[in-house]
Amino acid sequence: MPYTQVLQVPTRGHTDVLNLTPQVEAAVLESGVQNGLVVVFVPGSTAAITTMEYEPGCVADFQRLMETLAPESGDYAHNQRWGDGNGYAHLRASLVGPSLCVPIIDGRLALGSWQQIVLADFDNRPRQRRVVVHILEGNA
Ligand code: ZN
Repeated sequence: MPYTQVLQVPTRGHTDVLNLTPQVEAAVLESGVQNGLVVVFVPGSTAAITTMEYEPGCVADFQRLMETLAPESGDYAHNQRWGDGNGYAHLRASLVGPSLCVPIIDGRLALGSWQQIVLADFDNRPRQRRVVVHILEGNA
């Protein structure tokens, strides 16, 4: 049986990067699953889930990379159609992706020592995000 938990995560927007690893680890522990897979998924088209070494240097570099790839002040067809000014955020979210799968081995996430699970919120305003943590048991 799958086990699902929905995290409530307040963000500041503007490529705010938050470490979700402790919450995902807690959900895995609570599920009691020893071997399987955890899927971390953010509903919404202006946020993304990925991994990184969560320290201020890496976070700043990631934010700078995103600004290089899709500048906030760029010219976007989405902004012309909708006027919400977050065309850059939709592109960044598409590029990074909304979900992540991590194997669970012997009750623990198979992450590297310096690898954390992060939520990046690219929107141009603070948001209350829901993050779905879905745990599947088994070795298949
Ligand atoms: Zn938009």
